[in-house]
Amino acid sequence: PRAEQTPYLQGLNPEQREAVEHLDGPVLVLAGAGTGKTRVLTTRIAHILATGRAYPSQVLAVTFTNKAAREMKERIGSLVGGAVEGMPWLGTFHSIGVKILRRHAELVGLKSSFTILDPDDQLRLMKQVIEAARLDKDRWPARQLAGVIDGWKNRGLTPDKVPAGEAYNFAAGKGVELYAAYQQRLKELNACDFGDLLLENLRLFMEHPDVLADYQRRFRYLLVDEYQDTNVAQYLWLRLLAKGSPNVCCVGDDDQSIYGWRGAEVDNILRFDKDFPGAHVIRLERNYRSTGHILGAASGLIASNRDRLGKTLFTDGEDGNKVAVSAVWDDEEEARSIGDDIERMHKNGQKLNEVAILVRASFQMRAFEDRFISMGLPYRVIGGPRFYERQEIKDAIAYLEVTANPTNDLKFERIVNVPKRGLGDTSVKRVHELARARGIPMYQAAKMIVETEELGGKARKALSDLIRSFDRWRSRLGHIKHTELAELILDESGYTAMWQADKSPQAQTRLENLKELVRFMHEFETLEGFLEHITLVMDTEQAGDGDRVSVMTLHAAKGLEFDNVYLPGWEEGLFPHQRALDETGQSGLEEERRLAYVGITRAKRLAKISFAQNRRTRGLYQSALPSRFVDELPEDHVEIIETKKPFSGAYQNFGGTFGRSSYGQSRFDDVQTQPFEGHYGTPGWQRAQQHTRDQSSASSSSSAKRKWSPSDQRRK
Ligand code: ATP
Ligand code: MG
Repeated sequence: PRAEQTPYLQGLNPEQREAVEHLDGPVLVLAGAGTGKTRVLTTRIAHILATGRAYPSQVLAVTFTNKAAREMKERIGSLVGGAVEGMPWLGTFHSIGVKILRRHAELVGLKSSFTILDPDDQLRLMKQVIEAARLDKDRWPARQLAGVIDGWKNRGLTPDKVPAGEAYNFAAGKGVELYAAYQQRLKELNACDFGDLLLENLRLFMEHPDVLADYQRRFRYLLVDEYQDTNVAQYLWLRLLAKGSPNVCCVGDDDQSIYGWRGAEVDNILRFDKDFPGAHVIRLERNYRSTGHILGAASGLIASNRDRLGKTLFTDGEDGNKVAVSAVWDDEEEARSIGDDIERMHKNGQKLNEVAILVRASFQMRAFEDRFISMGLPYRVIGGPRFYERQEIKDAIAYLEVTANPTNDLKFERIVNVPKRGLGDTSVKRVHELARARGIPMYQAAKMIVETEELGGKARKALSDLIRSFDRWRSRLGHIKHTELAELILDESGYTAMWQADKSPQAQTRLENLKELVRFMHEFETLEGFLEHITLVMDTEQAGDGDRVSVMTLHAAKGLEFDNVYLPGWEEGLFPHQRALDETGQSGLEEERRLAYVGITRAKRLAKISFAQNRRTRGLYQSALPSRFVDELPEDHVEIIETKKPFSGAYQNFGGTFGRSSYGQSRFDDVQTQPFEGHYGTPGWQRAQQHTRDQSSASSSSSAKRKWSPSDQRRK
């Protein structure tokens, strides 16, 4: 095609261009971070549409997050204009899975209005199943069963397919039985959990070849981003769909495989050419995202991993600033210094949208959220189940859900007595029993019960008031704006008042969160649209317009890029995470290192790593060691930033604290009065503490090599 017809091809390098134009047959783009894999995928779609190779509805494009899907839609839109509007099959595995499942729900024993359980409801249901099997629920916790079942689902295993030996993974051989019972309960509730979205798709395709054939005919081009993180179920699903067309294009990077703990199989990418014979493998080596130092630091770090294909990356851009590494006293200081740094740069014209804080564990966000709120620095949390997992948010959503969908028993149960309205456990149990006996939703059972003398006067009135309220709210659906309705519901139910009356320090935050929830609803046309979004994005984003700093976990940052990236909490036991350190073998640690690689490579211009020397839990300080990843960074690309201690004029750099100057030591000893327990309530942190002490007393240990060894600092 002539250049003027394909302007979107301009600017691609030859390898990228090849990946875009090689439309027939399977293509694998295997390349490092920032080399333009996603850009290739987007341009490829544009090319398919612009050259009329397929209609938008014939292209299946899978992204890893909803945010990525949205961005891709926007990018394609800017390349080829309106055609993208008709791309119904661009989304995450989950969102596409839901769409297919809703169309054929009856074939797998669901109604098309099925609900999607969030992890909380999932646990509650499992607890019920465990109790119904008369198992000791303390000995066999629901959380553990959930893990086992999720594992099976990720591997595409329905209860009848679980290998015999594996039944023993839970409750002495009862695992599979419970799995089957749980699936049965889901069907009764007309519900799915996240894992089911794909699993039920697989079952649908296996049991109804005609349905599968229909989709196979439909999808002429299939494209998958972040292929290294697909799990077995996703892989099987893709392979089934791809049987109809050889035009599969997957892009990925083995060094960025970070979901092994969730069943992702990096092998999927490694055996692509076996699965798709004749696959054309393209490698991209030029990085367009980051400066030389950032790329050098990241490449040097990932080189410590044994288990990798290995690839070269280069950039023609500037070296830029070295990756900054600094030590701070604790997480409060970390949040404060990062906050100040951002504010300073913001005054110099830095856009906040181009700034991100990437944490290893979501609890780390709290310090930043608090700090940013008090500074008035606008931020958004992306990808956190954090926001949506807050109690007040879940309660509010339960109210909205029951309004929209009165058959949702789990949500109904959640708020039937929140705020307390005199409906004790016994009353709720009655409703439950009637519902089970009649095979009807609890809501309907409740309606019947209030017509009888079954419940005591107070409970009866409370329940009948509640039911009437829900009926009233439902009748206004579609008549007033859904955001107004939400406010009305939260007020009339007494829910807002409950928190207003609460004098605890969190109550204010909760009210703000509720406001935020309603504010966010404005982004949706309808309540149903909002609710569907909530279920789907539990693990993705909390929107917020305008110029804001992004706070998210490293896992959620995959595929994204920012001018400035802060990487706090690089401490042993936190990052690498204690879980990985406790594992035998290297695979856990290597996955942590890939996560660090993902983190650094998100940065375009500046990457700033920090670690706290002390972590505080329940008011107690625990000393921490800097992450081994800090030491693994190649020195040429790193700059050590010395910070002033705000709490003491006694010494000027962190070497003093880390080296346990007498002041730091005594202060530290003062507060540390109990053994540490808490977030990482594992022996690992005790070990870390032990280390630190060894290190400060004996310089003969391996610490002499550490960049952060106290002796080094003293020599300065
Ligand atoms: P990741 O592995 O992190 O997902 P990626 O390989 O998908 O990265 P992209 O996000 O597609 O990389 O691209 C990284 C950045 O480089 C983007 O800002 C993109 O617009 C830019 N880029 C990619 N290719 C080119 C090119 N040929 N010319 C200019 N900029 C490019
Ligand atoms: Mg990408």
